[in-house]
Amino acid sequence: MNYARFLTAVSGARKPSPIRLLTELQQRSPPSLISLAGGAPNPNTFPFQSASIQVKNGPTVTFDETAMKRALQYSASNGIPELLTWMKNLQKDLHNPPTIDYSQENGQMDMCVTTGSQEGLCKTFEMLVNPGDNVLLDAPTYSGTLAALHPLGCNIINVPSDQHGMIPEALKEVLSRWDPSEVHEPGSAAPRILYTIPNGGNPTGASMTAERKRDVYKLAQLYDMLIIEDDPYYFLQFEKPWAPTFLSMDVDGRIIRTDSFSKILSSGLRIGFVTGPKPLVDRIVLHIQASTMHTSTFTQLMVSQLLHSWGQDGFLQHIDRVIEFYRTQRDAMINSADKWLKDAAEWHAPSAGMFLWMKLRGVADTQQLIMEKALEKEVLLVPGGVFMINSSDPCPYVRAAFSLSTPEQIDEAFRRLSLLIKEGL
Ligand code: PLP
Ligand code: PMP
Repeated sequence: MNYARFLTAVSGARKPSPIRLLTELQQRSPPSLISLAGGAPNPNTFPFQSASIQVKNGPTVTFDETAMKRALQYSASNGIPELLTWMKNLQKDLHNPPTIDYSQENGQMDMCVTTGSQEGLCKTFEMLVNPGDNVLLDAPTYSGTLAALHPLGCNIINVPSDQHGMIPEALKEVLSRWDPSEVHEPGSAAPRILYTIPNGGNPTGASMTAERKRDVYKLAQLYDMLIIEDDPYYFLQFEKPWAPTFLSMDVDGRIIRTDSFSKILSSGLRIGFVTGPKPLVDRIVLHIQASTMHTSTFTQLMVSQLLHSWGQDGFLQHIDRVIEFYRTQRDAMINSADKWLKDAAEWHAPSAGMFLWMKLRGVADTQQLIMEKALEKEVLLVPGGVFMINSSDPCPYVRAAFSLSTPEQIDEAFRRLSLLIKEGL
């Protein structure tokens, strides 16, 4: 793969921070080296001394004074080594990507820690998207993706989708305006990146089948595109076995995958991961060097300690408990929808994630209904328009989250929504 053709001028111009290079040199030198080079502050002056965090039904995560000093200090921009090692093993065991080789010298694939997957996505887009570029995605899509893409001045092209996500035949049709043999011509306007949320899509709840992924991957090969696989709901798939990922099919090194701990460990700690071709992950790390420097060392150490004491089995057992919770919530929401909204709305029960996407019958645009009338009835949902490429287009859908409310609250909310729809007609 020639990755240079995918990079924006800004990303291509990024250079390693000279101070960060010196820090690495210092780490590789014998202890007798006296370094006056480091710009790190002296942690003895920091007020926090130690910490102890109790884990539900599990080990206590502790920071003694030495650990605390490390936790409060600068650390590597790609992430702390022990967290990266743990995650690389997990990626290998879950996805076993054909090109995987995390070794330093000849590694084709690499990972870095990001401050939530949103940071990874935003930096990925800024690395790859020029003004005027054609970018493919299946809308409705995550509003945070649109927020990261819109200011880059690209032309977002919608690929039609259904309850199983992006439709390969539709992608083929969209791509048919370009000749695959001309995509490397200078000035070719053929799209170079495709973005999708493969499981429990936000907002649609849609999940792609393995067959669809394989077909989309083939088209990405034909047109030499990168695929951004934004998969924060991967661990919230209710049905086993979990669907094979794009990463697991990546024979060429054209998948950039973003993972997130937000839905399974904590959203506020802000931990995510980018997995992809090493030359591209390197560019993202250079961007991190110049912006946040790294995800909070304290946060990474806290998460890493928990993962190491759990082991992969403990982690996956935790995931099973999380899945059980969301499955029960999903069932409760579908029951209440059947009870109150059968005549007023249509939907597909999601097999992953935390969202139900409903089309309200006889409502051309849900924006006014939700923003003006729903508050009076004390029920709040997201009007579907915010997930559309052009947010001012009328949209008959709403997104309901089953993550936070109790089954009783969900039931009452749908009762109120059904009254609202009746009154609105
Ligand atoms: N991608 C999608 C599809 C999401 O739904 C979200 C969160 O809602 C994110 C990314 C951002 O997740 P994080 O908290 O890891 O930044
Ligand atoms: N600005 C200046 C002038 C600095 O010296 C530093 C840190 N060396 C920073 C910004 C970055 O600081 P922070 O760790 O808060 O991101």
